[in-house]
Amino acid sequence: MNLPLKVDLNGKVAVVTGAGGILCGSMALALALSGAKVALLDINKAAVEKLAEEIKEAGGDAIPVVCNVLEQQSIKDARQQVLDAYGPCDILINGAGGNNPRATTDSEIFHKDQLGKEKTFFDIGKEDLDFVFGLNFTGTFLPTQEFAKDMILKEHSNIINIASVNTYLPLTKIPAYAAAKEAVGNFTKWLATYFSDSGIRVNAIAPGFLATHQTRPLFYEADGTTPTKRMNKILNGTPMKRLGESHELLGAILFLLSDEAASFVTGAIIPIDGGYTAYSGV
Ligand code: NAD
Repeated sequence: MNLPLKVDLNGKVAVVTGAGGILCGSMALALALSGAKVALLDINKAAVEKLAEEIKEAGGDAIPVVCNVLEQQSIKDARQQVLDAYGPCDILINGAGGNNPRATTDSEIFHKDQLGKEKTFFDIGKEDLDFVFGLNFTGTFLPTQEFAKDMILKEHSNIINIASVNTYLPLTKIPAYAAAKEAVGNFTKWLATYFSDSGIRVNAIAPGFLATHQTRPLFYEADGTTPTKRMNKILNGTPMKRLGESHELLGAILFLLSDEAASFVTGAIIPIDGGYTAYSGV
C-alpha cells in the first residue's frame, strides 16, 4: 500500500471496529504502516486473523480481536484484550456498519398496487429496523463509551466515525440505514463538543459510492458486469462520474489523525464522494 500522507502514529494504539471489512481493513493497514499498534475488532474472526497476518507481513503490528459492537460485555472484553496487549487506546475508528436487505424497500416510491406483491415500508419489521439502525448507530455509540474511557486519561486522542452520503440526504429504499447514518453525523458533532475539553477530537468521514463487497449488488446485475439502473443514477448524480475506491478514504483518515495537521479540527464530517452531496442534479 502506498500511503497518501505521511503521519507519524508511532506510540499510538488504535482500535478499528469492522476491521474485517474492505474499507476499515484498508484503514487499519494504513494506520499500522504509519506506526500505530492496531487492534482489529470484528465479529468475523477469520477476516481479522487474516488481516493481522497481512499487516505483520507488511511490517506492521496488529492483533485480531473478536468483538460484537452491539454487546457491551463483548466490547468490555475487547477493551481488556487491547489493554493487555498494547495498553490504553489513543485512536478509535468506528467502522462496523452497513445496510441489510431486510430493512430495504423494493421500490423508491410507494404505490398502493405494490401491497402484498413486493417489500414495502410496511413490511419492514421492528427487528429489521433495530438490526440496521442498531448496527450503525448503537454500534458506534457503545464502543465509543468503552474506549473513550482510555482516551480521557491522555492528552491527544482521536475518534473517527464512518458517516455516509445518507448523513446529508437519505437515499431511497434504505430508511433505517439512512436514519442511522444521519444519527452518526449528529452524534459526531455532539461528541466533539462533549469531549472538546478532554483532548479528544471527534470527526467523521462520509464516503460516497465505493466499490466494495457490500455495495456490488447495488451497482451490477447478477451477471456482475451490467450496471443496474441505480448505478446509472449514481453516476449521473456524481459530478466526477465514477465510483470511489477504498484507498481514496485514507488521505482524510490520516489527516484527521494528525495532531499537527488537524489540531483545530473537531466535529467535522468530510464528504469523500466525487461531489455527490455538492450536486443538486441540475
Ligand atoms: P463491510 O461489510 O466490508 O465491512 C463491515 C464489517 O463490519 C464486516 O467485516 C463485518 O463482519 C463487521 N461487522 C458487522 N456487524 C458487526 C458487529 N455487530 N460487530 C462487529 N463487527 C461487525 O463494509 P464496508 O463497505 O467496508 O463499510 C464499512 C463502513 O463504511 C460501514 O459503516 C459502512 O456503513 C460505511 N460506508 C460504506 C460505504 C461503501 O460504499 N462501501 C459508503 C459509505 C459508508
